[in-house]
Amino acid sequence: PKVIAPNDSNKPTIAVLGSGWGAISFLKHIDSTKYNVVMISPRSYFLFTPLLPSCPVGTVDEKSIMEPVVSFANKKKGDVTYYEAEATSINPDKNTVTIKSVSNISTTNGLGINVGLDPNELAEIKYDYLVSAVGAEPNTFGIPGVEENGCFLKEIPDSKKIRHKFIDSVERANLLPKGDPERKRLLTVVVVGGGPTGVETAGELQDYIDHDLKTFMPNLVEEVQIVLIEALPVVLSMFEKKLTTFAENVLRETTIELKTRTAVAKVEPEYLIAKTKAEDGTVEETKIPYGVLVWATGNKPRKVVTDVFKKIPEQNQANRGLIVDEYMRVKGTNNMFAIGDNAFAKLPPTAQVAHQEAEYLTKTLNKMARIPNFHQELQSRTEKVDLLFQDHGFKPFKYVHLGALAYLGAEKAIANITYGAKSFYSGGGVITFYIWRALYLGMILSWRSRFKVVADWGKIALFGRDAFKEL
Ligand code: FAD
Ligand code: NAD
Repeated sequence: PKVIAPNDSNKPTIAVLGSGWGAISFLKHIDSTKYNVVMISPRSYFLFTPLLPSCPVGTVDEKSIMEPVVSFANKKKGDVTYYEAEATSINPDKNTVTIKSVSNISTTNGLGINVGLDPNELAEIKYDYLVSAVGAEPNTFGIPGVEENGCFLKEIPDSKKIRHKFIDSVERANLLPKGDPERKRLLTVVVVGGGPTGVETAGELQDYIDHDLKTFMPNLVEEVQIVLIEALPVVLSMFEKKLTTFAENVLRETTIELKTRTAVAKVEPEYLIAKTKAEDGTVEETKIPYGVLVWATGNKPRKVVTDVFKKIPEQNQANRGLIVDEYMRVKGTNNMFAIGDNAFAKLPPTAQVAHQEAEYLTKTLNKMARIPNFHQELQSRTEKVDLLFQDHGFKPFKYVHLGALAYLGAEKAIANITYGAKSFYSGGGVITFYIWRALYLGMILSWRSRFKVVADWGKIALFGRDAFKEL
């Protein structure tokens, strides 16, 4: 493959893999006058995931939470190149990353050379530092039938797929007589996983049914049933007991059927098999027919990351992500960093963590650039234990937990707002829903997106949700 060297050889090159929370927060804060920044991601936009569960039913439009990588790149003073490409292999022995182009798009913010690649063309990018932020992918735990029959909710196409399947099922059910078991199946939506993704998606779907479907299809709306299945005894297990109980009550009041202590074991095209474990240990197996299946049981590392586990001896024991030290350095290397969901730092896989890790890492790299001969000294080190950080008084990363929020439907949310160990607010209800909205607006990374989300909320208050099957 073509080998692509940096544009300005006087500056070290940082290759950044991804365009999600970790990578884009990194891009926003890195001093690009001191580095050549090369962004590599098959997705040409940042996605504000906290509002993704609002998208399948049109509470928020998909485009409102997408922001092109180039709009962040163009704001940088220094050189930033973006390749719409997937990293297929990280090669720590050669300090290169092999990429496979998605399209022939590669753009710079004007200063560098624009090296175009053909779709599917492979190239090798040379780097001095690598920041891996490729996130993770949905985990099916190897349960048969999930991949073929379920819908995940991780990316924009997933949202569109859920909407299409749901509206299609409802329309097909409408052609069948009341009482027909096939009509009942088509009108059953099963959401598997009672983590925040599953709960928020179920809540949003119920909102759509109660407010919008009610006007379009009043004759069948009462028959639509959402079933939320969770293996643990409670949903949203990261929240305190008081809030999970509140959440479960809201879900039940809005007619969502909650099945806790129930694990899905097998998925067939029209039904699934779930096993419920009673407190006395007995297991009951049930067959649940469904029209739409949403699968939200958490994540696992991507192949490009698990391949690295094999290449670096210090990573051989890794299983959840690249093992990093307190400077976010990938253990066993001295020029590779990992942030966000693809890093294992004993922190939860959240946007909040990815964002803080990215900001921290840019401070480190910006500081490295100011220390004379730092890069050369680091490169000349043969041992892969980086004592240089300690020598120069770099501070280790400290995560500050700012709390957790979850939307439940019916304009109710739960929130636990903290600053580290200090708790400022813990509650649930309608006021918390407005706090939830305000905090999420604050988290959005661009003004355009913020404006669009507010406009979407205003629009649904006046005219209801848009949910077209084809769009
Ligand atoms: P991501 O944001 O997933 O970004 C990964 C990037 O890497 C993407 O751009 C992807 O296209 C790219 N990529 C993938 N493969 C490759 C490859 N081979 N080469 C190059 N690039 C690649 N967290 C919160 O804190 N609060 C919330 O409210 C919240 N809500 C969520 C709602 C949903 C529906 C989901 C799915 C997650 C939510 N999260 C939330 C979790 C949060 O989104 C993740 O923890 C966060 O996105 C992690 O950031 P990341 O940069 O590691 O990965
Ligand atoms: P999760 O890992 O938080 O939850 C998955 C749930 O699925 C778990 O409770 C697990 O017990 C259950 N499960 C696993 N296998 C099952 C099976 N076979 N049958 C039934 N249940 C099963 O996953 P998530 O909700 O996608 O969240 C992923 C990450 O993103 C988390 O760190 C979460 O905090 C974050 N996130 C946060 C928010 C928010 O803050 N509002 C929203 C979405 C996601």
